[in-house]
Amino acid sequence: MKTLKRIAAGILSTALLLGMTSCAAAQQTEAANSASFTTIESGKLIMATNAFFPPYEYYEGEKVVGIDVEIATAVAQKLGLELVIEDVEFDSIIAGVQGGKYDIGCAGMTVTEDRLKSVNFSTPYATGIQSIIVTADSEIKDIDTLLGGSYKVGVQSGTTGDIYMSSSPEDGGVGEDRIERFAKGNDAVIALTSGKIDAVVIDNEPAKAFVKSNDGLKVLDTPYTVEDYAMAINKDNVALKDAINQALKELTDDGTIPAIINKYIPAEG
Ligand code: GLN
Repeated sequence: MKTLKRIAAGILSTALLLGMTSCAAAQQTEAANSASFTTIESGKLIMATNAFFPPYEYYEGEKVVGIDVEIATAVAQKLGLELVIEDVEFDSIIAGVQGGKYDIGCAGMTVTEDRLKSVNFSTPYATGIQSIIVTADSEIKDIDTLLGGSYKVGVQSGTTGDIYMSSSPEDGGVGEDRIERFAKGNDAVIALTSGKIDAVVIDNEPAKAFVKSNDGLKVLDTPYTVEDYAMAINKDNVALKDAINQALKELTDDGTIPAIINKYIPAEG
């Protein structure tokens, strides 16, 4: 009798388990495969950024706002997670994602071959162009004048602007000797306004924002580098990358992401 009961109980719990599994599987396909990924802290999506990169991320009072913050918030919401923002140095973001400190790096971050060795990237959600900021009366007219002279160039440490500009003249840069590195883009702009450097090379949207908020500067567009911005994700967490890509797709298809970008960067014309 006892044995029979035990067998019956065994069958019942197996049936329950099977029922639960198929139920979970149904939820999984519905909610952007969300049942299969993990994050560092359950229920949270920890995003590393450097909040001095308007209009992608910047402070409004105590709050970090901007395109990246709104897109990441919408992605987190799709995945049933609460977004947690960590404002850190730009050049510590990749290592932090790789080391399991942050779930995503979302910082107007360009997809590069080199970074792809350390992290995965989501589907790109925006594009950027490297621009040159100079003083309004500068004799630097374009990239060739900049490269040809002996001008000092300010960059934000670890960014693609830094990587391009600090490469040797044969590789299209000005070389290490003419580079000044700054932790924040705005610090480079302050150095430019006080005459310590001759130009700043930085992404076009922050360049425009910095020029707007500092008198006597202008932007020279340099269309030679169009870059894709994407979220950096730990290489071991492929399920999170898949879920984020699914969320990004849904948010693009339903117009949410275009609307967020358009809110901060109104289409010209
Ligand atoms: N897009 C540039 C890069 O990825 C700059 C990003 C930034 O400064 N936040 O290097």
